[in-house]
Amino acid sequence: MHATKLLIANEWTDASGGATSTTVNPADGEVIGTFAEATATDVDVAVASARKGFESDEWQSMSPDARGKLLWRIGELIEKNTEELAALETLDQGQPTFMSTNVSVPLAAQVFRYYAGYTTKIEGKVSPVSIPNQLSYQTRVPMGVAGLITPWNFPLGIAAWKLAPALATGNAAILKPAEQTPLSTAYLARLCVEAGVPAGVVTLLTGGPDVGKALVAHRGVDKISFTGSTAVGQEIVKAASRDLKRIGLELGGKAPSIVCADADIDTAVVGNLQGALFNTGQACGAFTRFFVHRSRVDEFTSKLAAAADSLRIGPGQDPETVVGPLISAEHLGRVDGYVASGRKEGAELVTGGERVGGELEKGFFYRPTVFTEVKDDMTIAREEIFGPVLSVMPYDDIEEAVARANNTDYGLAAVLWTQDLKTAHNLPKRIQAGTVFVNQLPLIDPGSPWGGFGMSGWGREMGSYSIDEFTEPRTVFINLG
Ligand code: NAD
Repeated sequence: MHATKLLIANEWTDASGGATSTTVNPADGEVIGTFAEATATDVDVAVASARKGFESDEWQSMSPDARGKLLWRIGELIEKNTEELAALETLDQGQPTFMSTNVSVPLAAQVFRYYAGYTTKIEGKVSPVSIPNQLSYQTRVPMGVAGLITPWNFPLGIAAWKLAPALATGNAAILKPAEQTPLSTAYLARLCVEAGVPAGVVTLLTGGPDVGKALVAHRGVDKISFTGSTAVGQEIVKAASRDLKRIGLELGGKAPSIVCADADIDTAVVGNLQGALFNTGQACGAFTRFFVHRSRVDEFTSKLAAAADSLRIGPGQDPETVVGPLISAEHLGRVDGYVASGRKEGAELVTGGERVGGELEKGFFYRPTVFTEVKDDMTIAREEIFGPVLSVMPYDDIEEAVARANNTDYGLAAVLWTQDLKTAHNLPKRIQAGTVFVNQLPLIDPGSPWGGFGMSGWGREMGSYSIDEFTEPRTVFINLG
């Protein structure tokens, strides 16, 4: 049984009042741990401690090189603890071991190494002002205390991709993991202390939405970096308007996949299936709307359904598992509700459409589901399902496909399948999405920006974009006259 406390000023403490909540293994519904449920008082204490950590001489005077070394050490510790971290991620979140071991943990380590290199390269500039005898220069300075609020689908990876640049730029960070999956983030906080982070520079507050709300409302927090649902993102925008807090938002998605008439269908089936079902479809960049040229739709749909049926469903700990459980019973019910709406609104169910029973009955497993003849106005074509539900939507010409792909509130990711070089270059320019993949499943790399158009959020993360996200430009005018 895991027991996670709050980390404030590098000390592990219970929540004031001692309240705890539990976290379960989504593969069998069993409680696997408890975590401290932070109160409003704890948030106040944590923010004060983070402010002190931010202003501390140790942090303020740490050279860029030393800060880089610190980040590098955190990356090394993540790598050294791959087995434990991957096991925790799989236990708490449900993702297959091959994914936690080969994607989630290595990506977290890689992000720390990437931003370790950045600490010595955050440059300013000199502005050519026309006022005589003036030198005007800008530097990028840390914002102060940054609240990092993360979702349950990639707990460790997303915490890392916020924490590393927040620290690289000299902020103090408060981690607030999702209440469903606090374990790997708590482990990451522990590794930060082991790496030598000064007291108050990394804080962990566990708990539910109220903890996130308190951070957003807190005048002592300068920046909120949020990844989660669009609905909560909208609430954060409203709440942050009170003090015009800086906010970065990585929200939902409804990625289109355009399969051109010339596509290699076998490659498209494999890539689309991986893109749709990795992490059981619980991915913001998951492919969900499959616009397939009518001349290829029967072949594509039958191969997709057969491949979906062949995937091994099971607990993440089983090395053979390809499709793990959904995160919770509540989410299972939500996904099933979407499938029911697809049937009711006239989509044709090709395969799946039910939870998995038998020996997996105690877990939150759902069969990969393929619908065809899905119309643009159906609920399953419009709303983010965040589960293993794939909608095939035939089209007749490419102009129509582009218009329909763009007809969404979201704009996070998209994918295109073609063997034609001109189409591969020309079509992405017309897709309203932060990232367009060509003949590729969704990828995340610290060197490449991630974020969306429209209701998929504000701002970008990764690369130099995260450096901008966590700093303010400051101008200095010097009178040389
Ligand atoms: P969620 O919005 O319900 O919760 C995310 C986090 O916000 C949790 O830590 C939660 O406790 C906290 N929270 C809830 N209400 C809050 C409030 N009013 N104020 C402040 N914090 C609050 O999201 P989720 O269900 O955990 O995650 C799934 C969502 O995340 C999906 O919509 C998915 O698309 C999105 N997501 C986006 C990206 C991206 O990069 N764009 C990546 C992963 C997940």
